[in-house]
Amino acid sequence: MDSITTSRESDYKRWVDDFESGKFLPGTGIEIIREPAGRGTYAYALFDFDGTLSLLREGWPSVMGPMMVEELLKTPDCEPEDDLRTHVDDLISQTTGKQTIYQMMDFCEEIRHRGGQPLEATAYKKKYLDLLMERIKDRLEGLRCGRTRPEEMLVPGTYELLDALKERGVRMYLASGTDEPSVQEEAELLGVTPYFGEHIYGAIEDYRNYSKAQVIERILAESGVSGSKMLGFGDGYVELDNTKAAGGTAIGVATDEQDRSGKPDPFKRDRLIGVGADVIVPDFTEASTLVSYLFGEMS
Ligand SMILES: [Mg+2]
Repeated sequence: MDSITTSRESDYKRWVDDFESGKFLPGTGIEIIREPAGRGTYAYALFDFDGTLSLLREGWPSVMGPMMVEELLKTPDCEPEDDLRTHVDDLISQTTGKQTIYQMMDFCEEIRHRGGQPLEATAYKKKYLDLLMERIKDRLEGLRCGRTRPEEMLVPGTYELLDALKERGVRMYLASGTDEPSVQEEAELLGVTPYFGEHIYGAIEDYRNYSKAQVIERILAESGVSGSKMLGFGDGYVELDNTKAAGGTAIGVATDEQDRSGKPDPFKRDRLIGVGADVIVPDFTEASTLVSYLFGEMS
């Protein structure tokens, strides 16, 4: 097992190639890529937040993309705008799941690479978050004033999944790349705080002292259990990579965030399989079957 002691999150690295199709649990959209070794023994579950449980920040790439394009167009050695857009889209999809500050550090490199003089990464992070807030403020307000029900802003089946894991005594942790105060507020608005209690973590100003890998390390160190007793749920490569590195079972959540079609987003599915997802689900509407399978209550 590789050491997972790292604060800086590594880039996406594919290590499962040419995978066509797994085996579906009968009558469901739950795709088993490989039978998880830990079935029936799980005691801990780590969840990513945005795109995995919460849909509040849906559409963030279409906020980050244009901001990056606008800044890069100011650089001396910039390519034509169309090429630039494609490049930025790739860049964003390569870094999904990373903490925002690391995405912005990568972005500063892109500016330098084109002969530009970037501001501090924190300045771009602030600019991006201000723009994103503009986009999502009505969603937050809708929840605050009760106009929107939390279920409308959650991946379908979230409560069913969390309830089924809770019933089996699984301890749940939330670890997000979004700033911690925002994660805590949004978890509260979405009604998921009681499942996680004090174990809700997000990015902090001192970014070297927080990572999803560090949360996993702490869970394993404090509980003394083996990584094989751990489930990791995520729609990004970082949390799945970290789960696999610890010896856990990775559940890839390939949610079609925009249309909520109940079908897996093919792009996410492929990327998650590439970093070792053991199971792929389009959402959690079949949570009770998924959890029965994971706990060895069905074959
Ligand atoms: Mg995510």
